[in-house]
Amino acid sequence: MEKLARKQVQALTPYLSARRIGGCGDVWLNANESPFANEYTLNLNSLNRYSDCQPKELIDAYAAYAGVNPEQVLTSRGSDEGIELLIRAFCEVGEDAILYCPPTYGMYAISAETFGVESKKVPLTAEWQLNLPEIERQLENVKIVFVCSPNNPTGNLVNRDDIVTLLEMTKDRAIVVMDEAYIDFCPEASTVDLLAQYEHLAVLRTLSKAFGLAGLRCGFTLANAELIQVLLKVIAPYPVPIPVAEIAIQALSPAGLARTKFQVLDIITNRAYLQAGLGVIPGVTVFDGWGNYVLIEFPNGDELFKAAWDEGIILRNSPIANCVRISAGSREECEKTVAFIRNYYQSVTANNN
Ligand SMILES: *Cc1c(COP(=O)(O)O)cnc(C)c1O
Repeated sequence: MEKLARKQVQALTPYLSARRIGGCGDVWLNANESPFANEYTLNLNSLNRYSDCQPKELIDAYAAYAGVNPEQVLTSRGSDEGIELLIRAFCEVGEDAILYCPPTYGMYAISAETFGVESKKVPLTAEWQLNLPEIERQLENVKIVFVCSPNNPTGNLVNRDDIVTLLEMTKDRAIVVMDEAYIDFCPEASTVDLLAQYEHLAVLRTLSKAFGLAGLRCGFTLANAELIQVLLKVIAPYPVPIPVAEIAIQALSPAGLARTKFQVLDIITNRAYLQAGLGVIPGVTVFDGWGNYVLIEFPNGDELFKAAWDEGIILRNSPIANCVRISAGSREECEKTVAFIRNYYQSVTANNN
């Protein structure tokens, strides 16, 4: 049957999400999920009716949280759908390209490939910042530039001055998409305020990380009203299931926001615990991170990743040599992980002596 599929689709390798990779264990620090499973109430009395395309109460609540007007908000099935909608709405197949800066989130390339849109890659610099001169050289036929900050998997923030330079460079030529999936862990670094000045900016947000709702599939695109109207032309008619809107509205209520703020502080403390606990091991480099995860360079990253896996401690290997990404989970998960890794290196050192 596969031979009936489009050639592009036949050639496609699906995104290897943490879930698809699998694993078996009791410590899950591979998908940057929240360790908090919060409770919600559901009213399921009107499921015979279609949902609103863009439920007003949800849009209003997120607009208030993000500090923008409701016309500047679009909600979708996770921010992953936001990525797809942007590419489908702005990129002409076989003509236009997207540009992104690896190492970064894998879905920009996969979504482009699915639609038959070319991807241009301009690697981040050694400091994991934008290589602006090279981006400018590659800008021909680029319709969308994706920038992720805090960047996944490196964890660092992209310099704000560079983002402004990129916005100036792309004016009237391309859309700049800031992926702010982790911005709730460092809200002061958001670029949402730049929407007022730049009509070709779009900001991606999600409830999957800080809000602890990865399984809900609820994300947002923030942009100027005209850009949002373009995306509304390509979105499905009923993209938001009624229970999703109900739960998301509760998460964005004053009580929900207060709970998230508290949980974010807890997760940041656990991130610091991981950094401190692993940073003292000789030969290990801990990179500064602003999301709910840290990137760590080990002397033998792949072996460490596999050894942890065999112990039921599921981490995320990364495309960066010897680097492993570890989510800041519960304190107990972080303690088990630090203890395992310290022991591992103690026994490696002992065996060498
Ligand atoms: C997790 C993640 C997303 C996807 O978020 P969903 O809203 O769950 O689709 C988008 N971008 C980055 C960088 C992420 O890490």
